[in-house]
Amino acid sequence: MRALPHFIDGQCREPDSGQWLDVHDPANGRPFCRVARGNAADVDAALAAAEAAFPAWSALPNSERSAWLQRLADGLQARLPAFAQAESRDAGKPLALARDAEIPRSISNLRFFSHAATQFSSECHHGEAGLNYTLRQPLGVVATISPWNLPLYLFTWKIAPALAAGNTVVAKPSEVTPLTATLFGELAADVGLPPGVLNIVHGLGSEVGEPLVQDPRTRAVSFTGSTAVGKHLAGLCAPLLKKISLELGGKNPLLLFADSDWRRRMDTLLRAAFQNTGQICLCGSRILVESSIYDEFREQFVKQARALTVGDPLAQETRIGPLVSQAHFDKVVRALATARAEGGRVLCGGEPLQRDGWFIPPTVIEGLGPDCASNREEIFGPVVTLQPFDNDDEALALANAGDYGLAASVWTRDLARAHRVAARLRTGMVWINTWLERDLRTPFGGMGQSGLGREGGMEAMRFFTEPRNIGIGGL
Ligand code: NAD
Repeated sequence: MRALPHFIDGQCREPDSGQWLDVHDPANGRPFCRVARGNAADVDAALAAAEAAFPAWSALPNSERSAWLQRLADGLQARLPAFAQAESRDAGKPLALARDAEIPRSISNLRFFSHAATQFSSECHHGEAGLNYTLRQPLGVVATISPWNLPLYLFTWKIAPALAAGNTVVAKPSEVTPLTATLFGELAADVGLPPGVLNIVHGLGSEVGEPLVQDPRTRAVSFTGSTAVGKHLAGLCAPLLKKISLELGGKNPLLLFADSDWRRRMDTLLRAAFQNTGQICLCGSRILVESSIYDEFREQFVKQARALTVGDPLAQETRIGPLVSQAHFDKVVRALATARAEGGRVLCGGEPLQRDGWFIPPTVIEGLGPDCASNREEIFGPVVTLQPFDNDDEALALANAGDYGLAASVWTRDLARAHRVAARLRTGMVWINTWLERDLRTPFGGMGQSGLGREGGMEAMRFFTEPRNIGIGGL
């Protein structure tokens, strides 16, 4: 079995512990490679390398850091098929999704922040207090911690702005899907990225993530993952007064009004519900439907959800792959049992497939109110609920019920209503008549239990820099 080492100081490095963790193929449940089980000594080596690399990297002209990110993007572009294959196998996502969306988006992340390195600017204030200008300086060594659902996409979404802004990075990918981050380390070595600028330490959250977050050399933490772990890390950072950005869970509503173009847009609605087997923090897992179209929509939606091909992620026709791990599969199975116990009527799916691997087909449930666990807790699988509403106020009350506030989508042809409803939704992001169309310049992040802070565009560049004011008097 292939072994996936750390990438520290420009080199592959075996784990200090001598231990490795199995990495499973979600399509059959069997281990197909193993990854370094990192510990505090590995974190220490990575931080030392990142600290040593910081002075030279931060002193480079912005245009040179920009060029390094372009070289990484070019290298990734040249290896796209291999990265897509690896991502599909490791995470169980349909090959087409990895090849046509996620790896290309990783390339876009690198190119976008390559440009940001040269376009980022600071503020200047001229007035009664003389001339004040703001220096935006890199922080030093920063930590990025990313989840398994969009492995390379979110890994690059964090390291690219961190590097563009002049920081050096210690990245901790998810131990569940470490393959493409490892390939990215090899790519960084092949293009000659200076040693220590990007370091990748694999392993468990408690054994790698915590020492990384707590070490005083780590100046900031950019975390994407579950709300529970995010809160725990916020607790570790608070007494250290350490900067942390948290992109956490969601329970996103999709508001479907009777006047919308839903019959023609069914494919987008199905993607919003089930893309990546529902394992995207932005998936719409609570579908709120205006009563006058509820019956017709339910019939059409369930019919088309049933028709989505579930199967081998590498097969051309597959639309829905397996869930990522045994632990996550068990969690979704428990959530289905809860939905039944709460009185939910399962309209399709609801049972794992009888085959190897962690497969659950698209599942649609009705009959559950806004206070049920099924409508409040993140399931993060191919499971959606349907709830009817009669007017805008009722739709908004259902949409805003619960503690999360990541994203919502509103489907209506009434422009005034679209803006009115969007403004009253308590989510960091709202799409109108679309889903997951991202402009990388826009702020990305959630409210409430969905997180703190924003990523995306200049928000990310601001997170990864320290603003310092210089005031000049006597002008
Ligand atoms: P997770 O919180 O279990 O793990 C995320 C990362 O944190 C992994 O690398 C993990 O090893 C690490 N980690 C775990 N425990 C840690 C600890 N004690 N200290 C430091 N690091 C630790 O999340 P997951 O299961 O990998 O990902 C799924 C979750 O991520 C879902 O809740 C989903 O909504 C969320 N997510 C949010 C966004 C967003 O942008 N808001 C995007 C994608 C995923």
